Amino acid sequence: MANRVEPIRSVKGTRDLLPRETALWQRVEDEARRVFAAYNFREIRTPILEQTALFARSVGADTDIVSKEMYTFQDRDDESLTLRPEATASVVRAYIEHAMYNEGGIHKLYYIGPMFRRERPQKGRYRQFFQIGAEVLGSDHPKIDAEFLEMLALLLTRVGITEYQLLLNSVGCSKCRPQFVETLRQALEQVKDKMCGDCQRRSVTNPLRVLDCKVEADQPIIEKLPQIIEHLCAECRVHFDHVTKELGDRGVAYQISPRLVRGLDYYTRTTFEMTSNVLGAQNAFLGGGRYDGLSEMIGGPPTPGFGVAIGEDRLLLMVEHAGVLKADDGLDVFVAWLGDAAEQPAAQLARSLRQEGWRVESNYEAAKLKKSLGQASKLGARFAVIIGEGELASGRYQVKDMAAAQQVEVERNQIAPFLKEKLQKGSH
Ligand code: AMP
Repeated sequence: MANRVEPIRSVKGTRDLLPRETALWQRVEDEARRVFAAYNFREIRTPILEQTALFARSVGADTDIVSKEMYTFQDRDDESLTLRPEATASVVRAYIEHAMYNEGGIHKLYYIGPMFRRERPQKGRYRQFFQIGAEVLGSDHPKIDAEFLEMLALLLTRVGITEYQLLLNSVGCSKCRPQFVETLRQALEQVKDKMCGDCQRRSVTNPLRVLDCKVEADQPIIEKLPQIIEHLCAECRVHFDHVTKELGDRGVAYQISPRLVRGLDYYTRTTFEMTSNVLGAQNAFLGGGRYDGLSEMIGGPPTPGFGVAIGEDRLLLMVEHAGVLKADDGLDVFVAWLGDAAEQPAAQLARSLRQEGWRVESNYEAAKLKKSLGQASKLGARFAVIIGEGELASGRYQVKDMAAAQQVEVERNQIAPFLKEKLQKGSH
């Protein structure tokens, strides 16, 4: 006997989403698209591959993402390419590349797609994961920030999630942040020797990143460091106060979190994160904020921006846990036919029901009624239509309500309207 070939498995940190999962993913994405549309966002699809420099310049060379986690390779012509670790930089690149700023006004864009980071896999953390993101380009008005957070609250309501925290902070702007960073650098001088290697290095190269450190032993030290929210310039303070007032007016609850500087360099002013107790160690399910300097960092004109990236994998864990939103992929009708003469009439009925949008299955080969009904029940069909010799002769088909186990005879030409009425009364 030939040696069996070792089966090839999926790459570590990546996973297959099977139909029993994708049905709910689609429902969540449908809700997201609807909410984004209600706030006048439109979809953008950017490539998964980008030039490495895009992320080095925007996310920042000294962040974990760029320094440790990117899937970067030399292409055959020696160009350095990267599988996108996030999509905000790509969206802003596209905005600049297509001179969308020439159209004037505010651009509201959203995307849904896979991102790649070479992190240590665990529950809710993968090397290929999905983000649902949205960006507003072209205005730094505090109302944008507040309206955006209101939109996220609506999206969460729509997918049945009520238990979460909105954490909010401001990281200042190019005027006040350098001064704060200097203050932080000085404070770190005193304590950095007691901190981890990354913090020791970053206290010199990029002190703000020290605040992202996840090392347990460093946390008590970080708690005592100066807080950026106390060192904002007058403009940033006014902006932040306006955002929080707007949130209050809109009934959006939040908590100020002074350490929330986010792991990417491009943020300015408002930053936010949402967390949930359902998730365990990886408790942040979305994050974002304002990035008024990002466009210039990658060679574009000054363009204020604000955005979010929702971790879709984590959002789905929460949606499943909440159990309010349900997948909508059950079979509506099974058309069971007996005897060759019934094959064509069955095909015709299945076709007309499918044309009306119902989910329909039928037996492909002649089968005993018991077998076909068994299959209908296994597939979760709500109704079975039975067409045999007697039904063909009378022109009246049997329609069986599978759950109620009730059967009625319906005039052949009335089957479609009859089912339509019944099914619309149900969950459709
Ligand atoms: P970030 O782009 O780092 O601000 O991340 C935004 C959101 O994406 C986070 O709040 C997570 O929910 C999600 N996310 C980030 N990295 C991963 C990952 N490796 N696996 C799954 N979700 C992730």
